[in-house]
Amino acid sequence: MLNKDNQGKVMTVLGPIEPNQVGNTTTHDHVLINFQAILTEPLNPKEKKYMDEKINLENIGWVRFNWSSSKDNLTYEDKEIAIEELGHYKKSGGQTIVDVTNIGLGRDPEKLKNISQETGVNIVMGSGFYVELAQKKGYTNDGIESMFEVIMDDIKFGADKTDIKSGIIGEIGCSWPWTDNEKISMEASVMAHKETGLPLLIHPGRNQFAPLEIINYIENLGADLSNVVMGHVDRTIFDYDILKDTADTGVYINLDLWGHDSPFYPLAPETYMPGDHQRLDMIEFLIEEGFENRILLAQDICTKHRLKKFGGHGFDHLLTRIVPWMKSRKIDQKNIDKMMVQNPQKMLTIK
Ligand SMILES: [Zn+2]
Repeated sequence: MLNKDNQGKVMTVLGPIEPNQVGNTTTHDHVLINFQAILTEPLNPKEKKYMDEKINLENIGWVRFNWSSSKDNLTYEDKEIAIEELGHYKKSGGQTIVDVTNIGLGRDPEKLKNISQETGVNIVMGSGFYVELAQKKGYTNDGIESMFEVIMDDIKFGADKTDIKSGIIGEIGCSWPWTDNEKISMEASVMAHKETGLPLLIHPGRNQFAPLEIINYIENLGADLSNVVMGHVDRTIFDYDILKDTADTGVYINLDLWGHDSPFYPLAPETYMPGDHQRLDMIEFLIEEGFENRILLAQDICTKHRLKKFGGHGFDHLLTRIVPWMKSRKIDQKNIDKMMVQNPQKMLTIK
């Protein structure tokens, strides 16, 4: 049974829209989130005492470094704050946001619908399962078929017993090493991707070879790689030969952590978080290699401290600061439009 009702459209929380209504888009962010699953202890045990503090001006320096150790930092579910934050995005020319908050991250379809109505920003909502660490024990016990049905319900009828439909399958969580349960979740996601023509967006494990391992796996399951988004490439791949090999597979390359510039990476201390200047280097390399039609951009805002209200750069970071920086580095308008508008539009259009 094929579900091709919305073929050629983009599915938002307010219903289907025409692709030409997509406009400037960030392709991986979180309008609301509950990210407590990744709570980690700070690097220096002497600083554990800050874990329970609310964010304030005196501890914000600590929070920026130990962003996954502050409980307050890991959740924002307030609708009014989200409306304010997306208001800044809208004012800067933002038209669509892909919210890949899915199962395990506190997805709230009703609130997203409300926020979209209030702000006029199109929100494309995620589906499927985030990493195993964020799931209930035994979440795959009922098997692939049943997980597939959960995802299909999100897409065909509405998520979490609402009538609000998902427009993308992701972010599908993979750890490093990739766990057996996450492979089951991926297989269910690929089945739904094939059945519905919706794009599949992947959160790879933090290892340079993780994206290629996953791509190989899903290709064998029959995924349409031209309709797959490899997420977090900027924090995962540092070697440009591996970057090129990954892009050569035909997937979209999501450089989706713009503005997340604190180099210590608490979730993977053996590696690091690159800065925006390194993301610009990556873009220039990818364009030079002819991949300008496969690049997507986002900020993956998933903690309070990156919202404007808590001293962060906000959802408009790309449009307000990075686009001018791109121009000053001689990345031309044609390519900027591809990365901000045309590529997301093509990616989100249901095949
Ligand atoms: Zn994310």
